[in-house]
Amino acid sequence: MNYDNVEIFCPYCGEKNYIDAEMSGNTAQHLICDCEVCCRPMEILLKVNSEGIIFTEVKNEEGF
Ligand SMILES: [Zn+2]
Repeated sequence: MNYDNVEIFCPYCGEKNYIDAEMSGNTAQHLICDCEVCCRPMEILLKVNSEGIIFTEVKNEEGF
């Protein structure tokens, strides 16, 4: 299942970013993206519940 324009907020500058996610039967996916605004790397955890609704968790390099 594909999710376009998943909304995430940068943990450094708080700006909104959009990512495209592809969930191939997994319930969780982990990726690293650079913020489009401040270019710092953020760690993104994507989860999909049984209803197909996507949840995101964003962490900075220090794990917060
Ligand atoms: Zn940022």
